[in-house]
Amino acid sequence: MVEVRGVHKSFGAVHVLRGVDLTVRTGEATVVLGPSGSGKSTLLRCVNHLERADRGHVSVDGELIGYRRRGDVLYELKEKQILRQRGAIGFVFQNFNLFPHLTVLENIVEAPVHARHRPRAGAEREARELAERVGIADKLGAYPRQLSGGQQQRVAIARALALDPKVVLFDEPTSALDPELVGEVLDVMRDLARRGTTMIVVTHEIGFAREAADTVVFMDEGRIVESGTPEQVLDRPAHERTRAFLAKVR
Ligand code: ADP
Ligand code: MG
Repeated sequence: MVEVRGVHKSFGAVHVLRGVDLTVRTGEATVVLGPSGSGKSTLLRCVNHLERADRGHVSVDGELIGYRRRGDVLYELKEKQILRQRGAIGFVFQNFNLFPHLTVLENIVEAPVHARHRPRAGAEREARELAERVGIADKLGAYPRQLSGGQQQRVAIARALALDPKVVLFDEPTSALDPELVGEVLDVMRDLARRGTTMIVVTHEIGFAREAADTVVFMDEGRIVESGTPEQVLDRPAHERTRAFLAKVR
């Protein structure tokens, strides 16, 4: 479903991604672990073309992201087409990024109704179903500031699902939460993984990685150092850097 091939990205003189290859198959959850600054967020942002890779490419469901190929030449897509592609790639941020002036219901139907021009009645019906699934059905009329961080993040997940994405990217979705609110968000994400949602999750939650991931990837200094099943990477890491990292986060 997701193919990242040879992706490099620099910011000025800082070479952040140094040749990343990653394959995520349909229905699988991949958890990305790695120290702060190793390039995890940049990798996710390259997947949906919020950052433009300097080299390499990403495709989702066989479609090149951000470009169109003509012969050997790549042409960057127009903003409108990039936005269309992004609709197929849900993104859940660390800080929720909800629209503060919109109710929960309006946050969830915003993209389907205003970007996709779906009929409002159908979009609202789906929003109610999604709200039910993430446990915020009683909050549809509330504004984000009236919700706890865990509730806001569950709204953000419902919003990401509202366009029926092919893959959902999570960038440290529980890092900004008070500890007692982490579990309710991870429960929703575990449920998504069980239902076969294709997802890439950057997190330090090793327990979640163990239970929910099909593949665990360890990143350091802009490269994928190792990847494998949770048992392989978490219990029998092949690389010293992975062992050192796990010793710190456990
Ligand atoms: P991680 O998510 O693993 O903590 P990031 O992908 O956020 O790592 O960042 C990797 C490196 O890239 C860091 O050194 C960070 O400072 C740098 N970086 C990320 N985004 C930018 C940017 N927009 N401009 C300049 N440097 C950036
Ligand atoms: Mg990050």
